[in-house]
Amino acid sequence: MRLSQMLFVTLREDPAEAEIPSHKLLLRAGYIRRIGSGIYAYLPLMWRVLQKVSQIVREEMNAANAQECLLPQLQPADLWRESGRWETYTKAEGIMFSLIDRRQTELGLGPTHEEVITTVAKDMIRSYRQLPVNLYQIQTKFRDEIRPRFGLMRGREFIMKDAYSFHTSPESLQETYEAMDQAYRNMISRCGLAFRAVQADSGAIGGSASQEFMILAEAGEDEVLYTEDGKYAANVEKAVSLPPDAEKSPFTKAEKRETPGTDTIEKLCKFLQCSPTAIVKNVLYQVVYDSGKTVLVLVSIRGDQDVNEVKLTNELVRLAPQYQGTAVLALSVPDETAQKKWAAKPLPLGYIAPDLEDDYITSSQDYAPKFLRLVDKTVIDLKNFITGANETGYHQLGANWDKEFKLPKLVVDVRTAMAGDRAVHDPKQTLKTARGIEVGHIFQLGTKYSQAMGATFTNEAGEEQPLVMGCYGVGVSRLAQAAVEQSYDKDGIIWPVAIAPYHAIVVIPNINDPKQIEVAEKLYEELNQVGVETLLDDRDERAGVKFKDTELIGIPYRIVTGRSLKSGKVEVVKRARKQSQEMAIEDVVATLKQWVEEAKD
Ligand code: ATP
Ligand code: MG
Repeated sequence: MRLSQMLFVTLREDPAEAEIPSHKLLLRAGYIRRIGSGIYAYLPLMWRVLQKVSQIVREEMNAANAQECLLPQLQPADLWRESGRWETYTKAEGIMFSLIDRRQTELGLGPTHEEVITTVAKDMIRSYRQLPVNLYQIQTKFRDEIRPRFGLMRGREFIMKDAYSFHTSPESLQETYEAMDQAYRNMISRCGLAFRAVQADSGAIGGSASQEFMILAEAGEDEVLYTEDGKYAANVEKAVSLPPDAEKSPFTKAEKRETPGTDTIEKLCKFLQCSPTAIVKNVLYQVVYDSGKTVLVLVSIRGDQDVNEVKLTNELVRLAPQYQGTAVLALSVPDETAQKKWAAKPLPLGYIAPDLEDDYITSSQDYAPKFLRLVDKTVIDLKNFITGANETGYHQLGANWDKEFKLPKLVVDVRTAMAGDRAVHDPKQTLKTARGIEVGHIFQLGTKYSQAMGATFTNEAGEEQPLVMGCYGVGVSRLAQAAVEQSYDKDGIIWPVAIAPYHAIVVIPNINDPKQIEVAEKLYEELNQVGVETLLDDRDERAGVKFKDTELIGIPYRIVTGRSLKSGKVEVVKRARKQSQEMAIEDVVATLKQWVEEAKD
């Protein structure tokens, strides 16, 4: 392609809308344009990158025996009602765009495709003989994200590869899950990216095992905790660890003591000269279930630890049947307005004990009449601990479970693991932290969707059973931008060769010099002929402008038909380290072809 004939517009200045380097660079280099919040146009250079990423993804999926298809983006609400996700996705999480057509039928724009594919499987899969199968598509997804940002990283319209597999048994699912794990490792490595596979939370999608693939980069929205022995890595949402040992409480006698102005752990430790590890703090949450019931939750956790709301949500989902629900619509720390709705009398905030009386809750249809009391594992072995006295300005010291307080029955792990904690698999290892961009996520779904939607098969014994499912996503557009986030310098993008929009660019410094034009045209033609995808900068611009632009757009190899033509040579520059060399004109095509092939391996 000739730059003179392309829609080629670069910007000198960083666009104000962009916060992170990859977003700035893609805008400045003319790869993308913002059309609306979280909505982008993929311009010709970007589209080539996206197609290259898609092709690598496609090849690895095909190699793992998955079959490509294309599912509808417009999805009937009824399908989502069958799975029980319509309310959660349109109202609670609100992630799904929904609409009503001229026949008054409700539809959603696909944020993901479990419902659609399960319907297909329900219709078409009858027997164990048809299993296992794995279907995938590469398609635009729609999600009404709360905070669309960072360009293609978190869009409201973005490209995803999603795959869904069907099995007769968990063992068969495990096999495909492992094959997908390998396929994902291959595709990300082939795209030229450094990544880490981490244990992940399964979230609203449901199911048991799941793993995320993180591109390591400072701008990542996710925190990863890992050990240096390479044996453990997890998203902080899911991570477990050993908390620091608790210090001995200095209060061996049970007493209620006046502790004015100590409504935070920090103030209390200062006032009592004690360690936060000797304190049981009681954190109040309120959870709204899809049944319409609101439940007040009291979590008792060690003073130096924080509640992990993802883990807490998972526990609350497990307990949903007790409140006639199946899903959590909202979890929050009730603010003053929220408290006014249910608190029968002023709460002793900052001084709450694990046994806060249930009569703080006004009796009402909408609220469960009792606190749901959960204790985190970090507090069950504490002796002589300090905790609130249910009275503003007072704490209970030297308390023990089953003396001053009854240990609540529901013992859970809802603490947030932190960098510096000891690892569970080997306490000599401490957890380290890194930022990551999640580009892929593989899940073992089990029978959640097949059961809800009645998708069954007949096994060898002639019995009807629900299909066992897995699902596997890759953020194609997010991955393309993550590649930039991992590889750029002050002058612009440095594309990995495998996903660069073009491999090489031939720059004519002076378009009034016939000799320069002749050599450039010839190299341009021959390089393209041998499969080195090459641009020709034949614009009527100053050489300096052209060099700046080629660096900005990040094409791996630049060939300049400049001064050295006199001695039958051109200048060849590698973008990554800006290494420049003179090369005989007749060697250029073969050398570049070899470089491209080597770089793609
Ligand atoms: P996140 O936690 O980042 O919101 P997710 O858990 O919602 O991601 P999945 O539902 O597993 O993501 O989707 C599969 C993949 O699609 C993700 O791993 C990610 O790479 C990509 N993806 C998800 N949401 C977006 C988005 N809003 N914009 C771009 N890519 C996205
Ligand atoms: Mg999401």
